[in-house]
Amino acid sequence: MTMTLEELGRVASTCTKCRLANSRTQVVFGVGSPQADVMFIGEGPGYHEDQQGEPFVGAAGQLLTTMLGEIGLRREDVYICNVLKCRPPGNRDPLPDEVESCTPYLQGQIALVDPKVIVTLGNFATRFVLGRQVSISRVRGQRVQIDGRVVIPTFHPAAILRGGGAAGSQMAALRSDFQEVRAVIEDARRPVAAGVSAEEQLGLF
Ligand code: URA
Repeated sequence: MTMTLEELGRVASTCTKCRLANSRTQVVFGVGSPQADVMFIGEGPGYHEDQQGEPFVGAAGQLLTTMLGEIGLRREDVYICNVLKCRPPGNRDPLPDEVESCTPYLQGQIALVDPKVIVTLGNFATRFVLGRQVSISRVRGQRVQIDGRVVIPTFHPAAILRGGGAAGSQMAALRSDFQEVRAVIEDARRPVAAGVSAEEQLGLF
């Protein structure tokens, strides 16, 4: 029997599989539409997310919400989550065993939401989804097809805020990647020409 997204979130909410269970305020599972066409995956909760129980609600989250607005989407139209569901102390990088403990939750979220497009924000989410030890600066700008989904790797909004905000070239790259997200969704929603499936239109098969 397969779990629903809500049931999986309930299981995660009491998880003690790794050391982060001792320092978290609460588990930050995910937010948004369970039927979303687009999923955004970040690294792990920060201070504000840990306090509020919702991903991307701090400064990086505000930038994500603004970028969504620029392509006509609201937070509730998409699904937003992280590789780690618990905040690493002091916002340090996730450790390999923490990512491994959390893996079934993110795999479950991807399978249950079943998005057409996954946007990976930064190195950790990109490595998780691509299954390779890549660097975001090398793969950003590519559109990768995995398991019938389009994966768009892009910079983490927090990295952009650290790197000079709107003036930086990373900001322009982020903006262009969001336009790419919009283009992929519009393609997928376009009425299908006779005999051509949406997947074929997307070039997924
Ligand atoms: N950074 C992340 O990667 N995820 C959040 O939820 C917030 C900040």
